[in-house]
Amino acid sequence: MSQEDYYQVLGVGRNASEDEIKKAYRQLALKYHPDKNPDNKEAETMFKSAAEAYGVLSDQDKRRKYDQFGHEGLRGSGVSGFSGFDDIFDAFGDIFGGSIFEGMFGGGRRGRGGKRGRNLRCDMKIELVDVITGVEKTLEISRKEPCGDCKGSGAQPGTSPITCVYCKGRGEIQKSQGFFMVRSACPKCGGQGRVIDTPCRKCKGSGAAPKTATISVKIPSGIEDATRLRVTGQGEAGENGGPAGDLYCDIHVSPHPIFERHGNDIVCDIPITFPQAALGCEVEAPTLQRGKKIIKIPKGSQSGDVIAVKNEGVPDTYGYTRGNLLVHITVETPVKISSRQEALLREFEDLNHKNANPKQKNFFQKMRNYFS
Ligand SMILES: [Zn+2]
Ligand SMILES: [Zn+2]
Repeated sequence: MSQEDYYQVLGVGRNASEDEIKKAYRQLALKYHPDKNPDNKEAETMFKSAAEAYGVLSDQDKRRKYDQFGHEGLRGSGVSGFSGFDDIFDAFGDIFGGSIFEGMFGGGRRGRGGKRGRNLRCDMKIELVDVITGVEKTLEISRKEPCGDCKGSGAQPGTSPITCVYCKGRGEIQKSQGFFMVRSACPKCGGQGRVIDTPCRKCKGSGAAPKTATISVKIPSGIEDATRLRVTGQGEAGENGGPAGDLYCDIHVSPHPIFERHGNDIVCDIPITFPQAALGCEVEAPTLQRGKKIIKIPKGSQSGDVIAVKNEGVPDTYGYTRGNLLVHITVETPVKISSRQEALLREFEDLNHKNANPKQKNFFQKMRNYFS
């Protein structure tokens, strides 16, 4: 057990809320994750310290004891440090349900004893507005679950697995090869040390049976299209008491008829008329969450000008900041005009003074220089 101050480790105040503690931990875990810091002992230590601190401060009872008595108060309460990363993942897999940890912990968890269940994959469609708010979706999947008759043991109810005679329950066998003794998993029991004498009739000894399960998946706000979310332990059941696999959920954000997402900003194109651009105007702009919003387009606006509406974009994954709605202005030239409009436009053009169009003026100046 480390003796560092847990609040300092996470960089939060003594009266930090549960949420603040969780956020702080997630950030540290991301930063010091072993996948990001291969062979970096210091990062590994930080990662473990953060996990230990989080283990205490996220548990109300432990936190109270720690607040009162410090590290002394936790003696014998099971906060003994972690022996390896697997322990950390087993302990805190739940908080890594979010997209930002997508794939990061894959393969890190190994079952003790029985074979780990298979991972499953599914596709899930969500709308852009779900990205802003975050959403919980349910889906049905067909997967292997522990057999109801034998409770997953694989042995016919009323019987139990017996000690493997081949390896005498050790689960491994030794063979000499030249000077060496080679150990390998027992081929009769697959390393279990036990074999099923009377297989369960329902699952034929596998301990698992196919079943349709309804699973709810929490999709965090700010999720990117094509993110793969891991839902811990919702894959297929393990064999012979092994842990369940995980469910990987590929998230697809449906295209929106009006908006496009650019990072955490939401972009929307609004066409305006030439007089609107020249005179300035107010137009109604759509927002994803708050209906229509009046925005001011200044006099002399050009095609390609962008007007930002603050905080109408996508929240970042931590929920600290939020992107903007970016209204892209396109000035649309009229494609059909009446004779009266044409007359007015001709008059307008005749009246156009030489400083009205600086880009045009600039261009012809350059051209003159080029040909002189
Ligand atoms: Zn069974
Ligand atoms: Zn055996």
